[in-house]
Amino acid sequence: MTDDPQPSTPSEPATPANDRAATPATPADPFGGLSIDFGGGPAAVPEGNGSAAATPSGSPAGSPPASPSDFGAPISFGAPLEAPSAPVARARSGGPVGGPDDGGDRDANRTNVLIIGSGPAGLTAAIYAARANLEPIVLAGVVPGGQLMITSDVENFPGFPEGILGPELMTKFREQAERFGSRILDVDVERVDFSKRPFRAWARGIEYRADAIIVATGASALWLGLESETRLRGRGVSACATCDGFFFRDKEIAVVGGGDTALEEATYLTRFATKVHLLHRREAFRASKIMIDRAIDHPKIEIHTNTAVDEVLGGTRVEGLRLRNTATDEVRDVPMEGLFIAIGYRPNTDVFKDQLEVDDKGYLVVHDETGSKIDGVFIAGDVHDHRYRQAVTAAADGCKAAIDAERWLEAQGISEATTATAW
Ligand code: NAP
Repeated sequence: MTDDPQPSTPSEPATPANDRAATPATPADPFGGLSIDFGGGPAAVPEGNGSAAATPSGSPAGSPPASPSDFGAPISFGAPLEAPSAPVARARSGGPVGGPDDGGDRDANRTNVLIIGSGPAGLTAAIYAARANLEPIVLAGVVPGGQLMITSDVENFPGFPEGILGPELMTKFREQAERFGSRILDVDVERVDFSKRPFRAWARGIEYRADAIIVATGASALWLGLESETRLRGRGVSACATCDGFFFRDKEIAVVGGGDTALEEATYLTRFATKVHLLHRREAFRASKIMIDRAIDHPKIEIHTNTAVDEVLGGTRVEGLRLRNTATDEVRDVPMEGLFIAIGYRPNTDVFKDQLEVDDKGYLVVHDETGSKIDGVFIAGDVHDHRYRQAVTAAADGCKAAIDAERWLEAQGISEATTATAW
């Protein structure tokens, strides 16, 4: 991956802004003057307000809307809402649940494997751990299911040739994990202690203890924080071009952001859209030069610097954008059929960052595929992976973490031996 923390400036100046403020915007010229402007005054950089929300994605009008319960919140680890019913962990053949080092203190909150997070990584880990007879407990978050819960149609997850709704796919993941005995609790983890074994995690004040941990809390797309953006999510506003680009075939759309993600998504979206407007609030980009050059050269991409989105227009679907020139404060409305937010991601690592290694972007650091710096604590999915960020790669990661956890438990003499064919 390209990491260029220093903002870079496009190599080629593009067409200077043509000030046609009085000209009404038309579909053929939706910006009516807010064109590429690399030569203006000092960039006004609005305060970033990228509020973290759980996952991106959405499709334009006509596609099924995201669940009305608004799965937009991340797997949060905030204050508990109410006392949970204590999980009932299954005892293994004749014996109590749990492992050694517990001083005989074994109960329903003690497990071989505690999985934190319930997106594709966490639930796949649960399926594998449960099938290895590890009786996992999953602390799923009060908004379980991860990013797919705000995705409408998922058409790139193998096995569903007709596509599947994101929430429906996650329901199937969950049912499959439960079928093999996983205990899934929709609670947020507030605190963890991985300093000694058994490892501990607290949710709604209840302490859970485990011989092994799998952290799979995912990452959340950053959003602009506009009310209209939230309202039209899944109705033309998305944060995942790979997930939703297909729905914008022959449409004129915009991408917000000035980093590699925005440039990459804008380029990807040219496969579908008739035109992609890249909207960046400053003049200088964070993206790597090669990505900027590619966008500048692309006939379907039009770059608009010094441009902020103040409002997404439309009642039940995206119909336009209210744009502000951050250099002049000029505001204008332009017609638009879709909006992709590509202003970065925030990994959900708050409760772990004092105990596990995080990289300079806040993602957990893995060692040897799924390991962490602590023996017995494993990591899976987007919480460490800012490169692929796909449901299928997260699921694969969850599988690997569960296999690694099972083998580690076996090496510790905690779990019964399984063979490779047991999977
Ligand atoms: P990023 O580099 O942090 O860029 C985020 C962009 O969004 C910035 O241009 C920022 O503007 C803008 N932004 C942030 N908040 C905003 C707001 N509230 N309103 C409007 N604009 C806002 O994030 P990223 O692009 O997701 O990249 C993250 C990392 O992944 C980077 O290291 C990147 O190189 C890497 N990555 C690499 C590849 C690749 O190599 N193929 C692809 C994707 C990502 P300002 O510049 O004004 O702050």
